[in-house]
Amino acid sequence: MPGEGSPVIPAGGSIYREGTEETRGRDALHLNITAGKAVAAAIRTTLGPHGMDKMLVDSIGDVVITNDGITILQEMEIEHPAAKMMIEVAKVQDSEAGDGTTTAVIIGGELLRMAEDLIDQDLHPTIIAEGYRMAQEKAKEILSEISFEVHPDDTQLLRAIAETAMTGKGAEAVKEQLSDCIVQAVGMVAREKGTCEVDDIKIEKKVGGSSEDSEIVDGIIIDKERLNPAMPECVSNAKVLLLNTAVELRQTEIDAEISITNPEQIQEFLRKEEEMEKALVDRIVASGADVVFCQKGIDEFAEKELAKAGIFALRRLKKSDMERLADATGAEIVSSFDTLSSDDLGFAGEVEEKRIAGKRMVVVSKCQNPGTVSIIVSGGSDHVVNELLRAVDDGVHVVCSAFEENMAVPGGGASEVALSRRIREYGSGVGGRPQLAIEAFAGALEVIPKTLAENAGLDPIDMLVDLRTAHGNAGRMYGIDPDLGIPVDMKEAGVVEPLRVKTQAISSATEAAVMILRIDEIIAASKK
Ligand code: ADP
Ligand code: MG
Repeated sequence: MPGEGSPVIPAGGSIYREGTEETRGRDALHLNITAGKAVAAAIRTTLGPHGMDKMLVDSIGDVVITNDGITILQEMEIEHPAAKMMIEVAKVQDSEAGDGTTTAVIIGGELLRMAEDLIDQDLHPTIIAEGYRMAQEKAKEILSEISFEVHPDDTQLLRAIAETAMTGKGAEAVKEQLSDCIVQAVGMVAREKGTCEVDDIKIEKKVGGSSEDSEIVDGIIIDKERLNPAMPECVSNAKVLLLNTAVELRQTEIDAEISITNPEQIQEFLRKEEEMEKALVDRIVASGADVVFCQKGIDEFAEKELAKAGIFALRRLKKSDMERLADATGAEIVSSFDTLSSDDLGFAGEVEEKRIAGKRMVVVSKCQNPGTVSIIVSGGSDHVVNELLRAVDDGVHVVCSAFEENMAVPGGGASEVALSRRIREYGSGVGGRPQLAIEAFAGALEVIPKTLAENAGLDPIDMLVDLRTAHGNAGRMYGIDPDLGIPVDMKEAGVVEPLRVKTQAISSATEAAVMILRIDEIIAASKK
């Protein structure tokens, strides 16, 4: 490894196809480490309550303004394979924990930076990898020791968890209101179902109006108005039909011969067409449905006939809404009129069109399978709403995790400082070469409080020293108060995160770093 190998095998001496580029040994390692560190550096300034936003403009000029780690990384068009591995870290973090993506990538980058120093001191990468793995295992243990219980009824703590996740994401002004919505929503679902998964809570966006208009609705919201004002506004104990076929015939293709020579025949054709559509509506009526949600079109004549029959109907629903409705009401999605029967219908206690966040929408509630709640996030412009949506999405994730796992840890760098301290102690017990790697791991975790301080305009070194002192005096909950610039008990200050977010961030960061450290050769095929 270190010291061996030439960077590139000259053409002719290679066993690979012409044009293949080969990089070996230290050069390969340094290239990969540099790429990994660059990804972390790119999002470093977005971490924490005073993190800045990024404006991302894609090749067709669409703009996204965000503070969200995963969104930034996904929008950046990154090519380098090692850099892509770091982005993978963020993706895993997002799907497993729903928050902490920036944290995971920053820790990953710092682990690589520390490893680079050790490699320069001639420590073998596999020893570093081994030390990192040992430290990661220890970190898990320590985290569960410093974690504290979250009681499902402790709404104050749950709200603090939601607020911590939403901090820095353009939600400052409405953070309290949104965290209240999230905790209520999760509570409602959990009360009805016993558990709460992220998918049980639908987040709807509404552009226009102010962010204070955001609200929570018990049920599924469909952002549409009923087809015809003659239809009932509200249906109780509704038998719901979900149709994935159009209630219309194909446009009659009028033959020139007929249309020109015989106008009555056209009349006759149209009448026939109406008759056939009437037959479709009759089938719907015969099934016993009083509410129809159609994924395809419903034409004007059919719409009037449905209204005459007193049926509430919506057309052109999104597939995702149809699936959600199927889950909630227990209805089958019917794709042919031939098989339609009353067995296909589902049940909703109430289907109602009403004004929500200043706009008329349809709410389907008290369904056969309860436990679906919607949060409507509104804001003045598309950019604002989209960023709020990402904040609420993080909030829902963390509250669901806290509900499921019941454990939380202090934020604001407190957990990382506590871990760093304890892992250093553990390292000195291990001794030998791995100790160097374990100590590097401990040092790498301090990148979080340092970055939080830096982004808040504080001196990172002074802050770290103060934090270490506070922890030395047994204050293991002490993290950074970015406004006061002093260590503060984070649990008391309400800066708390689910345990899962931290364990996942540390383990995915370690895995990525270890994977990158074990690579000693890059063989890149020529681009076709
Ligand atoms: P991530 O993508 O990793 O979640 P964030 O930008 O959301 O990145 O920042 C999360 C970090 O900010 C966590 O370490 C969290 O503890 C910290 N944090 C959040 N709110 C506060 C606060 N009010 N005071 C101090 N630190 C905070
Ligand atoms: Mg976050």
